[in-house]
Amino acid sequence: MADITIPQDLLPQDGRFGAGPSRVSSHQLDHLIRNASLLGTSHRQAPVKELVGRIQGALGAYFRLPEGYEVVLGNGGSTAFWDVAAVSLAKNRSAHLSFGEFGAKCVKAHTTPWLEAPHVVTSEPGTRSELTAVPGVDLYAWPHNETSTGVMAPVTRVPGADPGALMMVDATSAAGGLDFDISEVDVYYFAPQKNFASDGGLWFALMSPAAIDRAFEIAATDRYIPDFLSLTQAIENSRLNQTLNTPALTTLLLMESQLEWMMSLGGLTPAAEHCAKASGLLYDWAESRSDVTPFVNDPSHRSRVVVTLDLDESIDATAVTSALRANGIVDTEPYRKLGRNQIRVATFVGVPLGDVEKLIASLDYVLENL
Ligand SMILES: *Cc1c(COP(=O)(O)O)cnc(C)c1O
Repeated sequence: MADITIPQDLLPQDGRFGAGPSRVSSHQLDHLIRNASLLGTSHRQAPVKELVGRIQGALGAYFRLPEGYEVVLGNGGSTAFWDVAAVSLAKNRSAHLSFGEFGAKCVKAHTTPWLEAPHVVTSEPGTRSELTAVPGVDLYAWPHNETSTGVMAPVTRVPGADPGALMMVDATSAAGGLDFDISEVDVYYFAPQKNFASDGGLWFALMSPAAIDRAFEIAATDRYIPDFLSLTQAIENSRLNQTLNTPALTTLLLMESQLEWMMSLGGLTPAAEHCAKASGLLYDWAESRSDVTPFVNDPSHRSRVVVTLDLDESIDATAVTSALRANGIVDTEPYRKLGRNQIRVATFVGVPLGDVEKLIASLDYVLENL
């Protein structure tokens, strides 16, 4: 393979385009240094509890939480939350819209000895179907954004669902970058290493009063619930601005800083408009070239935070992403298990339009010189 040196003036300022972990900015690192005296101190004392409380408050404001919704957090990332949900939220049976790897993992977590087999609606990678009401289902689950394929889904209650059925959305790569109405969902959960530009390891769940009631209702039954997966313990700790066990303080500080910055943009709606513009640049570029095609056919299903573009079979996508990597533009590889001749680019809130424009210039250069 020929070595390609992309001219300096075509390179983005920051070459990190991964869909999580995602780029951490210098203002976040400054915030970390400024608050370094918190590191190595007890998470049961006021300074760290105040930090947790500030993040909960900022998330509440950013997502415009209605009265009664709570910001709950715990350790283990979104993957842990799937098991939390299966043990602490699903009563008898869940239903899932599954259109990629992450949605499928959520289904797997709900395939347990104590629940009926989940109802699952699947579709070909790059597409999605729709959830309709199923009698007897008490928890409906779907991703807001399927990171493995770059397909997004609306956040709206499933019409005709049984009274009391909960709507639960995996927002790990969507949260902060896609606009929606929180009253349409009972559990909106995510981890902070995507739009919030922090490190992984924590989960956050915005929970409606109905979801909180469900967790306490299940905890009062004789179901065995390990402490680590107990949502009621997480709720009770979160009400005291704490977590069941020790959280990563660096993660919290990086997240606080990014949240402050996202609030300074004007909040969720302007932040989501940024992601729409940034992803639009890439989709428009793909439409302008005969050898690049958006993987997702239906424009209304195309993600505004994770862009997937197929390359013509005459071009080796691995050669493209390797050439980019050799020039400091990293993590444009497609989701590993998808196995397509593709590039994938995160257009999170923290990715400036200028960097997306430079990435496109770099891609043009690589495609020309490969
Ligand atoms: C990244 C991601 C996850 C996994 O998050 P972890 O914090 O690594 O467990 C789950 N769901 C979606 C949609 C994701 O993008």
